[in-house]
Formats: sequence, structure tokens, C-alpha cells
Amino acid sequence: MPNIAAERLHRLASTIVRAAGSNEDEAKAVADHLVVANLTGHDSHGVGMLPDYVKNSRIKVLVPNQTLKVVRDVGAVLVLDAGRGYGQTMARDAMKLGAERARQLGCAVVGLRNSSHVGRIGFWAEQCAAEGLMSLHFVNVADHDPLQAPFGCSSARLGTNPFCIGIPGADGKPMLLLDMATSAIAFGKARVARNKGLPVPVGVLIDADGTPTTDPTTYVDTRKGALLSFGLHKGSGLAIFCEILGGAMIGGQTIAPHHERLDGIVNSMFSLIVDPAVFGDLDTMRQEVQAVIDWIKASPPAPGFEAVLMPGEPESHARAQRSRDGIPIDPKSLGDIIAAGVSVGLTEAELRQIVEG
Ligand code: NAD
Repeated sequence: MPNIAAERLHRLASTIVRAAGSNEDEAKAVADHLVVANLTGHDSHGVGMLPDYVKNSRIKVLVPNQTLKVVRDVGAVLVLDAGRGYGQTMARDAMKLGAERARQLGCAVVGLRNSSHVGRIGFWAEQCAAEGLMSLHFVNVADHDPLQAPFGCSSARLGTNPFCIGIPGADGKPMLLLDMATSAIAFGKARVARNKGLPVPVGVLIDADGTPTTDPTTYVDTRKGALLSFGLHKGSGLAIFCEILGGAMIGGQTIAPHHERLDGIVNSMFSLIVDPAVFGDLDTMRQEVQAVIDWIKASPPAPGFEAVLMPGEPESHARAQRSRDGIPIDPKSLGDIIAAGVSVGLTEAELRQIVEG
């Protein structure tokens, strides 16, 4: 299957999201986000999410065209409730409010509760970086069965709870952007592997009995089994703090079993947004950041590595390459997306026309 140009995927996504009930602004915001995830190499969080979004809006665990409610506004702290709205508009608007507050006070702490899937968290650090702001995000995932087994567990107890931190450069892009699931791989990466008929790496997945496996099929199809936390007890600890800060502390829904799970995706996100200018001269800070980057990258690569990369670099490289060459979408994922579009009243012919021209 030939690669698909980003513009075509964008039209495909916005057409389906609009047909599923979103207004123009929301359909565009969702498409922008999903296509940037594909461009940056994160197919797990790209247009392949559309079948879930359509299913979730059909069963009303995702609510189109929501607006944020301010639950608390105290000094630097804003607590916002998204009412299960699309994460792409809810987090966008939450980060806008947080950025305004960080400009006024030097920093802002935003608790975004009860949002539907906020997608690739790096997108939100990029939005903050475009305003010259550093941001740090702890996110939990609720409303569906847990997917990640913390250190020492033989069964899933947490979502894939992502963590992200970005620091802005002079050009409004992050100089460094660490954005990751706290499970050894994101769930969507297991889904992509399953759709391509590929194994997942050794040491990332256990089956329903707690036995290590590399076959993602049963896990993806039935959610039986679990992804392991990255980095043994240390990654597991970070995953737990994503649950505590992203969920429990800001009043979001946690994965604890007393919360009814409706089989949607609810993300709650704790974001710390800081104007780095409050610490002093920005040029000096950027020179120091660059000096650290240069120092690390000057190391000869270890055996088996072509180059030493910084957090965010694989995504920048993928973005340049995929903007030029298009985005590979495997036939099963494309078929699932088209079926989702058909389920909201579009025809297969018009959707294939968007993709194939
Ligand atoms: P990943 O493992 O591909 O990358 C994690 C980080 O490591 C990135 O910052 C990347 O730049 C860096 N990196 C990758 N290879 C590198 C190398 N060779 N050298 C140096 N740095 C390198 O990412 P992931 O854990 O699979 O997460 C994928 C996406 O899934 C993220 O965007 C995350 O936000 C998203 N996610 C979202 C949710 C949600 O519920 N919304 C849940 C889990 C994950």
C-alpha cells in the first residue's frame, strides 16, 4: 500500500470527525493532532485512533463540542473539567488558559479533569513551547480496564500513563521534548504491531497468566495480559505518580476499581507550565541547554547505535521524512478507519476517494 500524504489523511480524519457530530473547529483540531502524531512517527496516536473515537462518541462516553468548565481558579492553579469532550480541543483550551496564567505569574499549574483522549502529549508541550514556555505533564488513563502491570505485578493495574516534558528554544519549537508512555511501549504500538502481524519486543508484554510473550494478538483483541512498566521499579514509580498527580490530586477519575468503567478513554492531566524568563536571561539559558546537548552528542555512539539522539529528535526526523514521503498506513488500520466513517453515514467510495484521489 503506497504512503498517504498528510493532507489526505487530514481530510479523511476531519470528514469522519465532522460526520460523528463535531463542529468545524473541533474536526480540524482533532485532524491536526492525529496527523501530527502520524507525522512524528507515533502511528499509535494518529488516525488509527478514529475507530475508537467514533465508537466512543456512539456510546456517549466521548461528547463532541464540549467547552471547559472552570472548577477552581486559585492563584497559579486552574482546575478544569472537560466533560468527556475531545481531548484535542479540551487540552488545547486548557493549555491556552495555562499559558496566559504563566505569562502573568511566571508559572501555572493546570489540572485538566475528565477529558476524552488527549492523544500525543508532546503536542501540548509543543503548544506551550510555541509560546516560549516550558511544560511538564503527568497524565493518567481511566474508564477502561488497566493495561500496565507495575513492577512486581503479574496483572494490569494502571493505564499506560504518559509523562512529558518540553523546553522551548528561540524558534518556538522545543529544544528537548521527552514524551513517553510509562509502559515499556504504548498500547497503540501493540495495536499497530498486531495489525501488521508483527511481534512486540521481548520484555514488554505478559499474558493473562503473567508469562512473558511477544505475541500482541490476544492482548490487543481481548485486553487480557499486560504491558510491563518501562525501567523496572523506577518507571513503575513514575507511572504510579502519573496516576496520583494526573488523577487523584487534581480530582480526576482514577483507575481504582470503585470508579465505574464505561469502556471509553478518560485522560486527566496535571500540567506545570513555566515561563523560563522568570529564572533570568533566556539567551544564557538556551546556550547552557545547547552546551549540554552538544556535550552529550559529542560522545562516540555505543556499539549498535548510529548516532546519539536527544529526546524529541526521532520525532523531528520522522516529521521531515513523512512530510516529504507520506505516511504509511497498513491496510487493516485503513480498513478500520473507513469502516468507522461508514458507521457515521459516509460512503466507502467517498472515503477511498479522499485517500486515493
Ligand atoms: P517512544 O518510546 O517512541 O519515545 C519516548 C521518548 O523517547 C520520546 O521523547 C523520544 O523522542 C525519545 N526517544 C525515542 N528513541 C530515542 C533514541 N534512540 N534516543 C533518544 N531518545 C529517544 O514513545 P512511547 O512511549 O511509545 O509513547 C508514544 C506516544 O504515546 C507519546 O506521544 C505519548 O504521549 C503517547 N501516549 C498517550 C497516552 C494517552 O492516554 N493519551 C498514553 C500513553 C502514551
